[in-house]
Amino acid sequence: MLKGLVERLLETIPLACRQNLPASEFSYWKIGGPVKLFVEPNDIHELALAIKLCNAQSDVPFLVVGDGSNLLFDSSGFDGVVIKIGNNLSSLKIDGTSVVCEAGIWVPELTYRLSSYGLSGIEHICGIPGRLGGLIYMNGGSNRRSILENTVSIELINKRGEIEKVFIEDLEFAYRTSPFQEANDDRIVARVELKLKKSERKLVRKQIKTILSSRRKKFPRKLPNCGSVFLSDPAMYDIIGPPGFAIEKVGLKGRVRGNAQISPIHANFIVNNGGASSDDVLYLIALARREVYQSTNFLMDCEVRYVYPNGGLVQAHLKADSSYSSDKYCS
Ligand SMILES: Cc1cc2nc3c(=O)[nH]c(=O)nc-3n(C[C@H](O)[C@H](O)[C@H](O)COP(=O)(O)OP(=O)(O)OC[C@H]3O[C@@H](n4cnc5c(N)ncnc54)[C@H](O)[C@@H]3O)c2cc1C
Repeated sequence: MLKGLVERLLETIPLACRQNLPASEFSYWKIGGPVKLFVEPNDIHELALAIKLCNAQSDVPFLVVGDGSNLLFDSSGFDGVVIKIGNNLSSLKIDGTSVVCEAGIWVPELTYRLSSYGLSGIEHICGIPGRLGGLIYMNGGSNRRSILENTVSIELINKRGEIEKVFIEDLEFAYRTSPFQEANDDRIVARVELKLKKSERKLVRKQIKTILSSRRKKFPRKLPNCGSVFLSDPAMYDIIGPPGFAIEKVGLKGRVRGNAQISPIHANFIVNNGGASSDDVLYLIALARREVYQSTNFLMDCEVRYVYPNGGLVQAHLKADSSYSSDKYCS
C-alpha cells in the first residue's frame, strides 16, 4: 500500500518528491534514518493535493513538518511520507497592523521583515529557528509568551484537502499547547493572520537585537540540538526552578551517552556531538527525567516530539520511559 501512495505522489507532483531522504538531512538534531518519501509542495494546491492523497490511504503514516527543529526522528527511519512546509509556502501580506502569512515562513525572517514596518508584538519569537506552522502547532514563544496570543485566525487544510478558517476565540489553547496537538485533530496549518501593534522600526529592531544577544549567551549554538528538551512547569519553576537548573542540580550537566550529550552550556539542551542516535538522546531524556523526579518529586515532560518509524508522534519522554525502564539505567 505504501508503494501505491509513493507512486501516486511521484506521478502527481514529481518535482516535489525525494525518495529515501535521511531525516538527519532535514531535522535540526541531524538524527534519523531514511524517510520513504519526502515531499516539499511548491504551492498550496500541491500541499492540499498531497494531504488529500495521504489521508485517502490511511494505512500509510504521514507527517507534516516545518524545519524539524522540535522533532526526534528514529535512527531506523520513517516508513511513510513526510510533507515539508517551507520556503515554497512563505508569502507575507501586510495591511496596517494585520499580517497574513503562509505557514512555511521562517520565524526569524518573519520578525525581521515585520520590524522593517515598525510592527511590534512578536519580537519574542525572533530567535526560534522553525516555520510559522510548526510554531502555531507548538504554540511556541519565549519569555513566557506564546504565538497564539497574537493570532487572529488560522486557515487549515482538512483531510479532504479543503481549506477551513478558524478564529482564535473559538480555539482552546494554553501554554505550549494548541488544539492541533490532539491525536484526533488532523488539520494542517496553511496560513495565519496575526495582529500586531504599530511601533517604530528602530525600537523593534533594538528589542530583537537584545533578545538575540541574550539567547546567544545562554544557549549552545555550535552543535545540532532541538532547543529546550523539557517543558517548563510553572509549579516546578516556583519551587525548584526551570528544567535546566534542576538537571544541573542533579549533576547531569555534560553527561554523555554515545554521541549525544546534555549540553555543558545549558542543561535543558541535548546536543549531537556527531553521529548521535535517537536512542542516545532517548536515554539521556529518561535519565534526566528520573533523576530530577527522584530529587524533586517533579516529573518533567518533553517539549520535543519523537516520531515512531511506523507512524505516530509522542512527547519524547513517553518513548524514552518505555525504552529505558528503571532497570536499564546505568549509574
Ligand atoms: C536552537 C533552538 C532554539 C529553540 N528555541 C525555542 C524557543 O525559544 N521557544 C519555543 O517555543 N521553541 C523553541 N525551539 C523549538 C522549535 O524551534 C519550535 O517548537 C518551532 O516552533 C518548531 O517549528 P518547526 O517548523 O521546526 O516544526 P517541526 O519541528 O518541523 O514540527 C513540530 C510539530 O509541529 C507540527 N507541524 C509543523 N508544521 C505544521 C503545520 N504547518 N501544520 C500542522 N502541524 C505542523 C509537526 O507535525 C510537529 O508535530 C527551539 C529549537 C531550537 C533548535
